[in-house]
Amino acid sequence: MTAPQAARDRALAVVPDGGLFIDGAFAPAASGATFETVDPATGLVITGVARGAEADVDRAVRAARRAFDSGVWSRCAPAERKRVLLRIADALAERVEEFALLESLDGGKILRDTRAWDIPGTVAILRWYAEAVDKVYGEVAPIDPSRLAVITRAPLGVVGAVVPWNYPLEMAMWKIAPALATGNSMVLKPAEETPLTALAFAELCSAAGLPDGVFNVVTGLGPEAGRALGLHDDVDAIAFTGSTATGKRFMEYSGQSNLKAVWPECGGKSANLVFADNADLAQVAARAAGGIFHCSGQVCSANSRLLVHRSIADELTALIVAEAERLRVGDPMAEDTELGPLVGAGHAERVRGFISRGAERSSLVTGGAVAPSGMPGGGAAFVAPTIFTGVAPDSELFAEEVFGPVLGITVFDDEDEAIALANRSRYGLAASVFTDDLRRAHRVSARLVAGTVTINGVDAVDVTVPFGGFKQSGFGRDLSLHALDKYTGLTTRWFEA
Ligand code: NAD
Repeated sequence: MTAPQAARDRALAVVPDGGLFIDGAFAPAASGATFETVDPATGLVITGVARGAEADVDRAVRAARRAFDSGVWSRCAPAERKRVLLRIADALAERVEEFALLESLDGGKILRDTRAWDIPGTVAILRWYAEAVDKVYGEVAPIDPSRLAVITRAPLGVVGAVVPWNYPLEMAMWKIAPALATGNSMVLKPAEETPLTALAFAELCSAAGLPDGVFNVVTGLGPEAGRALGLHDDVDAIAFTGSTATGKRFMEYSGQSNLKAVWPECGGKSANLVFADNADLAQVAARAAGGIFHCSGQVCSANSRLLVHRSIADELTALIVAEAERLRVGDPMAEDTELGPLVGAGHAERVRGFISRGAERSSLVTGGAVAPSGMPGGGAAFVAPTIFTGVAPDSELFAEEVFGPVLGITVFDDEDEAIALANRSRYGLAASVFTDDLRRAHRVSARLVAGTVTINGVDAVDVTVPFGGFKQSGFGRDLSLHALDKYTGLTTRWFEA
């Protein structure tokens, strides 16, 4: 047996129960319905998973509310919540390999990334919030000394989290860690493409001592389980990460129901501005390629628009094309694979649609086809790293989020034009600026409309700093202490003399 097949078998051996996880136990959907989750690399069904719908969401929300009202979690000392969350983090840290295998099996992410980054990163986020929660103070207002006004943060109640498939457990943890640390109860709806690590994590939480009902998982389809959570009258807030179209739906669900808070983290079309003053273009090319081809381009902040000064455009393009063509495409379970499949054959088809339409207006310089993956069945979910030059600012490729390994290159002649092109987007999630000129770095980075701007790098992110966007990238901020604002309400208690 080959090593990748052995890894796949080890992953299949740890697939969790495919039930909903409500009130500390697995259970089938009320309807008994299931859906299949598929290994994108092989196209083979992994397992059936409960297809939760309105009745199941209601049951999970009622369990979460009961747990919240009981005070078992919501009113316990922050230091006690810290202890339990750190126990969960330790348990997850002990099972990095198992969770990495599951994540790679279910979403096609390359094993060396899930093992080195996704799961250890998820552990680190949980630890960080666990450790923070007993170090955040309330306030005393500076008022007339005959009275006292004490401002504290109160947990909201039941938080619904709806997350995408590109970093399944890590995106969920961006919501779970601050929401649980501040005393809320939760109902998580993972993406239907990648439900497995959420279920395994729920089981792990229970075993580590999280009280029943505090953390529930309802698997199911977006328009069924996701919609029911968005419309539920007893959910106090929705923390959402996904496409802009779905983010808008959650705003509508809120208006149609109980005006729950909605925190949308949505799509992006991040610009990467490369100026002619860079001394080391080979390094720029390597980083720019990483910025678009990492995770097969399925990253919300992927640097999908390369804006380059005309004088270096040909040289930089040649270097990035070389980077793209050297990437080892293949089985995500193989240790040396650098680019795996997209999340599924359907998404790959959508990406190929962008590529064929893009070729009508721009020049395709590399990629464009199904990547030879060596996988059985031809690997329908694989798309080769693809680069276009001459991408016009009014074209689909410049405007739309492809969410695949597709880079569009556009030239500029001066700094103002570069900034105008970068900001010409309905998104505002992230941007990069490559320059060796410190003054230019200051000037340009300050004028970019983006939540994260990275100078001489791509896609910088850390639990210590906020992550989120402007415009139609949404307005929530995940990570850092700022995220605590999303999961707490400020209450003021007045003490009169
Ligand atoms: P998606 O919007 O299709 O799905 C996201 C989640 O919403 C899933 O759980 C899905 O089941 C649910 N959903 C879908 N339709 C729904 C509906 N009608 N009602 C209720 N719920 C519904 O997004 P995706 O394809 O899973 O993920 C890719 C998107 O996520 C990209 O646009 C990407 O940019 C974005 N993303 C953003 C960030 C960020 O932090 N800003 C991070 C990662 C991904």
